[in-house]
Amino acid sequence: MQDRLSIAPMTDCAENRIVDGVTSAILEQRLRAGTKLSEPELCDIYGCSRSDVRRALVVLAARKTVELKRNRGAFVRVPAEQEARNVFQARRAIEKTLARNAALHATDHDIAELEEAVGAEAAARTSGDRARAIGLSGEFHMVVARISGNDVLSDFLRELIMRSSLIIGFFAGSNHILCEDDEHAAIATAIRKRDGTMARELIERHLRHIESQLVFGEQPGASDLRRILGR
Ligand SMILES: [Zn+2]
Repeated sequence: MQDRLSIAPMTDCAENRIVDGVTSAILEQRLRAGTKLSEPELCDIYGCSRSDVRRALVVLAARKTVELKRNRGAFVRVPAEQEARNVFQARRAIEKTLARNAALHATDHDIAELEEAVGAEAAARTSGDRARAIGLSGEFHMVVARISGNDVLSDFLRELIMRSSLIIGFFAGSNHILCEDDEHAAIATAIRKRDGTMARELIERHLRHIESQLVFGEQPGASDLRRILGR
């Protein structure tokens, strides 16, 4: 989390702060696909050098969240419809295995953590904190992944969740797509009951439900960088 009261020091951590700032803004669907990531503006927002900004943009491009365009600069990557379909297909393939394994391997401590994640997300929703609720809903999926005990699949999922946030933000149309917290609660219950088959089925249904709400063809506008990332 950024400390909004501090003046950003000129340190080599600027690169990480930019990567983290842009990543959280995308995960929370505050920063939209297509927004230009202007180098001078990022230097100003983070109080750092142009080379820090460039290194951060290269890291973000490698994570497929930023697109570097020759002579035009960096933009938050705009997903294509086919890419959106592929990302959700990949998530279903991975998360069915993760949910089943989570149900088979969960300890009592894991179950408590999962239920806490469901509770925190519901509380953020109730308080009307949309960005936090979206961030925590992605976190729910990562908690299931961690419980499953497969680090390789968890790493894939982290990248896919990031790409899903861009996709959902871009193709949400006039819908307000969120993971439904009762769907998360049902998945958590299946895992608590150690019912691998049910957990697998529910996560697949949940991901299909989210994908079914995407509206292809609509193009929302870009975000105001200074308002989203500034302090
Ligand atoms: Zn979800």
